[in-house]
Amino acid sequence: GNLLEVRGLTKCYKGDVKALDNVSIDVRRGEFVTIIGASGAGKSTLLRCINRLIEPTTGTVAFDGREMTTLGKHDLRLARQRISMIFQHYNLVYRMTAIENVLHGRLGYKSTLAGALGLYSEDEKALAFKVLDQVGLSDFAYTRTDQLSGGQKQRVGIARALVQEPLLMLCDEPIASLDPKSSRTVMERLRWVADELNIACLVNLHQVDFALEFSDRIIGLAKGKKVFEGTPDEVNEEV
Ligand code: ADP
Ligand code: ADP
Repeated sequence: GNLLEVRGLTKCYKGDVKALDNVSIDVRRGEFVTIIGASGAGKSTLLRCINRLIEPTTGTVAFDGREMTTLGKHDLRLARQRISMIFQHYNLVYRMTAIENVLHGRLGYKSTLAGALGLYSEDEKALAFKVLDQVGLSDFAYTRTDQLSGGQKQRVGIARALVQEPLLMLCDEPIASLDPKSSRTVMERLRWVADELNIACLVNLHQVDFALEFSDRIIGLAKGKKVFEGTPDEVNEEV
């Protein structure tokens, strides 16, 4: 079966903005799917409805065989642990080091303070080192994240997402603030995550060229509606 099944998702914000209009999508395990569309098309609303950061107006979201919209608080929290998120502006705690940010992603309740490494077990720290190594940042574990470049910051974001041991990563414009070279590095890391770790990636992008190069499947959104869906080859023929 599919890892994620979104059916008939509609989101109306206050003031009659229909940000999503009857959108249905499927994502398989380990699949790399990009969503492209202009600013305001509804891409981030879609991602935020999937992990229920916001409530859809109508429609259903099944994740790993369970209907998210019917889960109670406890089960929703467990489901969300398997869905991690990456943001355009990284959302790091800049006074903390890379490894502190990563551990904070796994066990955020322990502390938001710098210098809180002692609160974590050796197993947790080993896992944090492993994911930092997976994104090529083992040499920067103890560097404060405000000292890192944009591409390195986003790779800390990926490491923080990986430490949750997710099945799905929702990436909201992960390269929109990066130069082309860092963008490529981040896209390559995400593609590696899908291929090698079998973690599905659902990635909002507005760069069609990167979508064509890296995706298994591309979904186009315009004014809240799904306007096309296909492999990069199929999309290329339509364009
Ligand atoms: P993006 O660049 O990702 O499209 P925006 O700059 O449009 O983001 O929005 C930034 C924040 O403002 C988001 O949290 C979004 O939910 C919120 N927002 C966007 N449009 C509106 C709106 N018309 N009314 C209220 N909040 C909005
Ligand atoms: P995208 O991510 O493709 O830029 P969004 O999902 O951010 O699109 O926005 C879709 C539409 O919903 C836009 O018209 C935006 O202004 C509106 N919108 C987003 N967030 C809010 C909000 N919190 N309140 C009201 N309108 C919003």
